Amino acid sequence: MAHNVCLIEGDGIGPEITAAVKRIIEAAGVSIDWRPVLAGVSAVEKAGTPLPPETILAIKETKVALKGPLATAIGKGFRSVNVGLRQELQLYANFRPARTIPGVKTRFEEVDLIVIRENTEGLYSGLEHTVVPGVVESLRVISEKASRRIAIFAFETARKYNRKTVTCVHKANILKLSDGLFLDTVNEVAKDYPDIELNDCIIDAAAMKLVMDPTQFEVLVMENLFGDIVSDLASGLVGGLGVTPSGNYGADVAIFEAVHGTAPDIAGKDLANPTALLLSATMMLKHLGEMDAADRMEGALLSVLQNPETRTGDLGGKLSTSQFADTVAEACAVGS
Ligand code: NAD
Repeated sequence: MAHNVCLIEGDGIGPEITAAVKRIIEAAGVSIDWRPVLAGVSAVEKAGTPLPPETILAIKETKVALKGPLATAIGKGFRSVNVGLRQELQLYANFRPARTIPGVKTRFEEVDLIVIRENTEGLYSGLEHTVVPGVVESLRVISEKASRRIAIFAFETARKYNRKTVTCVHKANILKLSDGLFLDTVNEVAKDYPDIELNDCIIDAAAMKLVMDPTQFEVLVMENLFGDIVSDLASGLVGGLGVTPSGNYGADVAIFEAVHGTAPDIAGKDLANPTALLLSATMMLKHLGEMDAADRMEGALLSVLQNPETRTGDLGGKLSTSQFADTVAEACAVGS
């Protein structure tokens, strides 16, 4: 039976990379009934708002969406679509694996870590006000409820992906109340997971350790702003945003997306690398229970990337987006 999945094509290179990913998923033998929905600049043009209510309703129905990059709509009154989606659908966990990709040259080998970022509060709660002219306050909200659910998500992730340790990254030595609550809550949740070891690390030390030897970490869990920065840092360890996938999970809805932007400089030129969105799509297939196809797709992608001749321009190769999609599709076709 076909899976129902909402598709946000996105702006800029979005339509090219989503077309490539759809083509490869089909070649892997997974049947998906794509439901196109609007968001971003194209939604402003067609529906007058970057995040139409119909889009939210459709994602609530299908419970799964694949999303291309969205250009930020210019103009006051438009909030970020990414933040809007997370808040409206309560996508409380951002899941960012960073794994060495054979053939993509970086400083480290054998990096394999997962950053879990709390997605709904912290400094991104949007609570800012002017105290007096020239002085502005932003509120950094940490709640026990949100800390507990992200801690549970991190430990469950460790179990699911056979990892032995979770590291709670925080600044509880200075932010004694807020990060103190976060750390205490993660410690509390850890009691229910005796099979997983919990460590903790202060954010600044964690940043240093990550760039010195990222292989010492397995699963890292942290609040929103730290997670925003550390997840990009982790991407940098394995080749950058062009090769890292991302999933945003709520209680019963999940959205999978690339973390890079719309690349306006190469949009429409058949030059974009669909790797990040493709890796996000393999996470989506696993979420849908399509384990074999996901493994086949990932294996095909990694083997194609290993050959310098069959990479896209950003990774030093000569293939266009569509040629790259054809090559990966051929490599992962059922029976190949
Ligand atoms: P960008 O990621 O779009 O581009 C940075 C550089 O990386 C460019 O040179 C681009 O060509 C290259 N690049 C990015 N993705 C690539 C790919 N798949 N293949 C090959 N090269 C790739 O960042 P930017 O220029 O700062 O942002 C452009 C727009 O994207 C802005 O409107 C920004 O708000 C938006 N944006 C959206 C998201 C998202 O929706 N998740 C994330 C970041 C930026």
